[in-house]
Amino acid sequence: MNDPRAYKVRDGHGGNGPVACWMHREHRARDNHALLFAQELALERGVPLVVLYGLAPKFLEAASRQFLFLVKGLRETAATLEGLNIPFLLRLGTPDVVVPEMIRELDVSALVMDFDVLRLKRQWMKTVADAAQGEVWEVDSRNTVPCRLASDKREYAARTIRPKIHRLLSDFLVEPPDLKKHPHTLKKRPETASMDEALKHVEAAPALPETAFVPGETAAWEQLDSFIRSGLDVYGEGRNVPTNPGVSRLSPYLHFGQISALRVLHEVTARGKNRDSVAAYVEQLVVRRELSDNFCLYEPEYDSPGCFADWAITTLEEHLGDERPYLYSLEEMERGKTHDDLWNAAQMEMVRTGHMHNYMRMYWAKKILEWTEHYEEAMQRAIFLNDRYQLDGRDANGYTGVAWSIGGVHDRAWGERAIFGKIRFMSYNGAKSKFRIQEYIDAQLRPSLI
Ligand SMILES: Cc1cc2nc3c(=O)[nH]c(=O)nc-3n(C[C@H](O)[C@H](O)[C@H](O)COP(=O)(O)OP(=O)(O)OC[C@H]3O[C@@H](n4cnc5c(N)ncnc54)[C@H](O)[C@@H]3O)c2cc1C
Repeated sequence: MNDPRAYKVRDGHGGNGPVACWMHREHRARDNHALLFAQELALERGVPLVVLYGLAPKFLEAASRQFLFLVKGLRETAATLEGLNIPFLLRLGTPDVVVPEMIRELDVSALVMDFDVLRLKRQWMKTVADAAQGEVWEVDSRNTVPCRLASDKREYAARTIRPKIHRLLSDFLVEPPDLKKHPHTLKKRPETASMDEALKHVEAAPALPETAFVPGETAAWEQLDSFIRSGLDVYGEGRNVPTNPGVSRLSPYLHFGQISALRVLHEVTARGKNRDSVAAYVEQLVVRRELSDNFCLYEPEYDSPGCFADWAITTLEEHLGDERPYLYSLEEMERGKTHDDLWNAAQMEMVRTGHMHNYMRMYWAKKILEWTEHYEEAMQRAIFLNDRYQLDGRDANGYTGVAWSIGGVHDRAWGERAIFGKIRFMSYNGAKSKFRIQEYIDAQLRPSLI
């Protein structure tokens, strides 16, 4: 089969059972190229199609907040798939253990899995692929232009990947077809867990209150519709203003794969009226976001200073001895107890709502560098807090955003300053000159006003 989104991991001679799609990044039934590709394979062979899911008890720093968002969203997706005669087979345990078990029990004839770039996921993918006897495919339904096709190396910056993506974009702007009702029925269902059991399983994660974001595919589409109606046309001018509501707040849905970026792209380009705003949005959704997957796929040290350029390491080292007027412990930061009310407000926004505006994320991470003894520790802290509290954390965008803020990745050298050296600096007064910071601070202190 010839689908440029599908990358053949391995050839093989599989069993006589169904084609299996192992879902682990794109948690949706609609606009899911891995599922569409798996269905084509299953139809060609005249066999059933199943979706395998392994729910790990722990994933990086995820808390109950993110697990509940995932499982509640999956409930909707599983029901849609079951309605299409595609069994959703869920087991509780790390995917590298429970998915191979199901592959063997079902005598799977071919395996299709989501593309992913994170180290832990790629280790799981290798183990799961090794357990399959038949062909194994990886399908990139995350990026509008498949990551491996956009570039075969770590890109230097947005300016180097942008032309590569735009050159191929029109080839991939194809409306995905609907998944069909599958004509071949699985005769014997293996033992699986229920969604209620999955919700209980989530209790193993560190407890953290849920947020106002409603999980699932329907909610993702509603969020997209509401953004297009009331935010998109002012996105260009308001994108960098944290008090401006004109951002999409789609990142939790994109992170969990509850909506596809390609769908978002289709809708914003078809319905947006302000061309400049649409272009500004497409730059973030496509270029910046896909640069992040490129970075994590090709840079094994995406979450440590090993990914910084030589100039960045040199300048940060040269400034390690600089006087640091403010130093805070991780706990003080976590509780939003610094001298900087703007930073505290951003931290509290993240803790309470599971989301933070892009401008504030940059400011927030740069201040962690400023108030921590060593840049390596600053990076660890920023990643820990981001992954623990943000709904969209544990994401290529997060690792890239932190590396950009603290290590100048995808950025250039700026004028020399204390502590930061040549890393781009952001200040309280700079924020003050850009937007009404008191309005933002008050909104975080009085949540009912947001
Ligand atoms: C320190 C730091 C940490 C970050 N952590 C994360 C994270 O964990 N998860 C995450 O998804 N994003 C992260 N970002 C990127 C960005 O801040 C968020 O994607 C954005 O704020 C999400 O809000 P939104 O959906 O309203 O964005 P919008 O402004 O509406 O943008 C639309 C979409 O474009 C993408 N996007 C926007 N800005 C960026 C960017 N700078 N880099 C890459 N993609 C972008 C996102 O998918 C976003 O949903 C981080 C940025 C920084 C500087």
